[in-house]
Amino acid sequence: MSHPSATPPTEPHVMPTYARVPIMLSHGRGCRVWDVDGREYLDALAGIAVNTLGHAHPRLVKALQEQVGRLIHVSNYYHHPWTEPLAAALCERSGLDNVFFCSSGLEANEAALKLARKFGHDKGIARPEIVVYERAFHGRSIATLSATGNPKVQAGFEPLVDGFIRVPINDLEALRRATAGNPNVVAVFFEAIQGEGGVHPLDADYIAGVRALCDAHDWLLMIDEVQCGMGRTGKWFAHQWANIRPDVMPLAKGLGSGVPVGAVVAGPRAARLFQPGNHGTTFGGNPLAMRAGLETIRIMEDEGLLANAATQGEHLLTQLWAELHGLPGVREVRGKGLMIGIELDRPCGDLVLRCARAGLLLSVTAERVIRLVPPLILSRAEADEIIAKLVPQVRAFLDETHA
Ligand SMILES: *Cc1c(COP(=O)(O)O)cnc(C)c1O
Repeated sequence: MSHPSATPPTEPHVMPTYARVPIMLSHGRGCRVWDVDGREYLDALAGIAVNTLGHAHPRLVKALQEQVGRLIHVSNYYHHPWTEPLAAALCERSGLDNVFFCSSGLEANEAALKLARKFGHDKGIARPEIVVYERAFHGRSIATLSATGNPKVQAGFEPLVDGFIRVPINDLEALRRATAGNPNVVAVFFEAIQGEGGVHPLDADYIAGVRALCDAHDWLLMIDEVQCGMGRTGKWFAHQWANIRPDVMPLAKGLGSGVPVGAVVAGPRAARLFQPGNHGTTFGGNPLAMRAGLETIRIMEDEGLLANAATQGEHLLTQLWAELHGLPGVREVRGKGLMIGIELDRPCGDLVLRCARAGLLLSVTAERVIRLVPPLILSRAEADEIIAKLVPQVRAFLDETHA
């Protein structure tokens, strides 16, 4: 098979932390990107659920250009006009109280873990413990890696941080058993839909059950919405399908539509835990990032992107199921809104390059789950194009390989 790019890119001066797809991307527009050789790709990955508004959205570009020419960064020593409006916008849409801003998902989760420990210490618990989940992914710092439920990404970085109790998803009884009589538990921490772990949604009933348990025991309910939040499932935040509110909610990925922005949103029980000096980060809350987040939210509302994510997601899920179910090798098609996983019975990382050659960008996570997290501006025609490009690749791959 020929290389998708005329000149395979090499980066001898870059640490080889990623086995990149051999494509050198040049520019994008909407849900499409082009490589330096002029080949066009439909982007069903969106920078891993980051490019909410697709590429080069004219309104976002205009706002960012204006901001770059005005102020990019001033540090947290001073006020600037964009922090409070974005914080207020997030509080309004989540029903929570206040926000700490940072620049990435792991940073948001790290802040959540610190909030939980502070919550415990303020109650006189010297060695607080936090419940986390099998197959969870919370980031690559030492603490968030320790909270992550994937031994593969932990290997080589021990000793891990302790103070975590691990349970399976969607099993309230297991959670009760794992915490029974333990006075050191301070929080329960999960993704409303596990992303990197293979697109596994937590049941609405389960989430509501954990909320009740947290209330009964005075634990913080902390929901990592870094990937599934910001409108991707058709509601602002995926936990809203369960009609509950968390106490702590980390956000990042889609929040700035490509500009690095992270945030931890806190409800009444966690909003006053951090006091001056307790936490901070240099880049957090800078004017460029705040402007990106605020403009992204405004555009999402003006363009009805929550409803669009729900509609196109439903269409994709139904059609993909119709095309793929019954094929030997296809286990499940699942997800919510524009966060969809197709689980096969075998490792299928090769599909990433096969699909790229067919003009479709996507990822494979947890070895055997094809993940679609396209921009929320995806049109019906583009959804159909994803199906038309993906299904023949899956069929051919299953024909040529064995479980
Ligand atoms: C991507 C992701 C993270 C980590 O975010 P980074 O910005 O890569 O640090 C944390 N939690 C979830 C659920 C994620 O999907």
